[in-house]
Amino acid sequence: MNTQNCDVVIVGAGFSGLYLLHRLRGLGYSVRVFEAGDDVGGTWYWNRYPGARCDVESMQYSYSFSEELQQEWDWSERFSAQPEILEYANHVADRFDLRRGIEFSTTVTAAHFNEESQRWTVTTDKGESLSAQFCVMATGCISAAQTPEFEGLADYRGTTYHTGNWPHEEIDFTGKRIAVIGTGSSAIQAIPVLAEQAEHVTVFQRTPNYSLPSRNGPMTEDYANSWKDNYAALREEQRHTPKGALGEFRNISGIGAADDERATAYEERWDRGGSALLGSYRDMLVDESVNETAAEFVRDKIRTIVKDPQVAELLAAKGYPIGTKRICIDSGYFETFNRDNVALVDLNDTPIDRITPNGLATTGRSFDFDAIVFATGFDAMTGTLFKIDIQGLGGATLRDKWQAGPRTYLGLMTEAFPNLFMITGPGSPSVLTNMMVSIEQHVDWVTDCLEHMRADGLATIAPTLPAQDEWVEHVNVVAHRTLFPKAASWYMGANIPGKPRIFMPYVGGAGTYRKICDDVVADGYKGFDFLPGTDRVAAAE
Ligand code: NAP
Repeated sequence: MNTQNCDVVIVGAGFSGLYLLHRLRGLGYSVRVFEAGDDVGGTWYWNRYPGARCDVESMQYSYSFSEELQQEWDWSERFSAQPEILEYANHVADRFDLRRGIEFSTTVTAAHFNEESQRWTVTTDKGESLSAQFCVMATGCISAAQTPEFEGLADYRGTTYHTGNWPHEEIDFTGKRIAVIGTGSSAIQAIPVLAEQAEHVTVFQRTPNYSLPSRNGPMTEDYANSWKDNYAALREEQRHTPKGALGEFRNISGIGAADDERATAYEERWDRGGSALLGSYRDMLVDESVNETAAEFVRDKIRTIVKDPQVAELLAAKGYPIGTKRICIDSGYFETFNRDNVALVDLNDTPIDRITPNGLATTGRSFDFDAIVFATGFDAMTGTLFKIDIQGLGGATLRDKWQAGPRTYLGLMTEAFPNLFMITGPGSPSVLTNMMVSIEQHVDWVTDCLEHMRADGLATIAPTLPAQDEWVEHVNVVAHRTLFPKAASWYMGANIPGKPRIFMPYVGGAGTYRKICDDVVADGYKGFDFLPGTDRVAAAE
């Protein structure tokens, strides 16, 4: 096997990997990037299902690291659709000449830390092996698509799709009878578009989701310029907000809010579109009574939109607080259930029993379908990491170390795995924030750390066990001060049978978290241990 050397291996060429490659190469590091897809874009490369769209405004869901880039790029809509975001990722790759550093269609299968050389040996499915001082997992939080193990799936005669792994070619559903399994963000975006094409769509729902209208529309020059004219200041402000996004959060309590004030706030934010409604009160995700007012407001909207009262009631989420499962942002989702060619099947009393050769059977009834769309989500935050055989000190595997749930320090590193970084790993705010802001913060932190190590001739960095234990405890404590753990969400690992129920992202907010990371550095990388390089050891001897 041919083994080559480099300073840094990056796994993944999504927005994390691209920016990290750009930063590190600019500082003279030798970097190799491996990407399983045949092009850049990460989540936006894989999730090509009809209707896929970002739920953060385009002017905010974009890189801030280059003033030229943010001035020259024009978004066509307020919330960009997947093809345009993918085009943007491609533009970034070309503009900053990133492609030549990336090995496409290549999956990293193993990463082992060699204690003698203090380097990582990274192996790919192409049989390539690399020795690198640092290994960075830029693998994304929701990239391991999950299809439930339905009996009979192998014998199904129709076509199956997963929203998280959608084919690259255009699929024509004209005249087809389609099943959609799941009602998460992906399904909620796909169903209205599929319903316009297909002869009939049957939606199989286990848990209804809260969804808010996007009010998407064409980008106006005025709105784009209101950002572009002031980007530096607005981006800086964004970085210190809880969600890494502006225009959403009112720092007032909803406890005891007057009925008319509340009604006005909710109506205004419902009309504005996006997730702004959740930012109406600072205690929306902390106080159940405040939360219930917003939840009921949304249920009432569904009852107004959906003509069949029984269907409306089935679609109206109950039993968990709004926002504790990732809020969905839709374009005409509830309205779609007023169409004659769309039916809703409630799986609560009659779950899916099996896939049949011609369709599927619940415990109550059989259905025939030409195609089944699995919108059944992802093994989030840990699934992709566990697909790689990662071994640290003493041959310990990440999978074993995290058997009871992920354990990290700041979501950046994990004890006993020196020089292995994660971008937006479990224990960091990641999916609870505007990912672009969190990605840039992590990439900058890691880059600064490598520069610090280079300047001081340090060979390895790893968090101490006490620092990690304290952080894991803190992540858990702050999560349980909120309503988040009340929902059986993928944030909690609840969608994967047997996965430990741990609230994985850090709820403290992007701004607070950034300050914690900066303070750790200012305090001499508090909670991290460094080992000097062998040159330095030799010199000291
Ligand atoms: P998801 O939110 O995990 O939804 C999966 C759906 O499949 C749920 O409704 C789930 O029901 C259902 N399901 C799973 N197994 C099932 C089974 N055996 N039988 C019946 N139903 C089953 O996944 P997703 O919609 O792909 O979204 C994942 C995340 O990706 C989102 O939360 C969001 O963070 C991100 N995303 C973002 C965007 C955007 O930016 N606009 C778009 C799409 C996705 P239960 O709830 O009952 O488990």
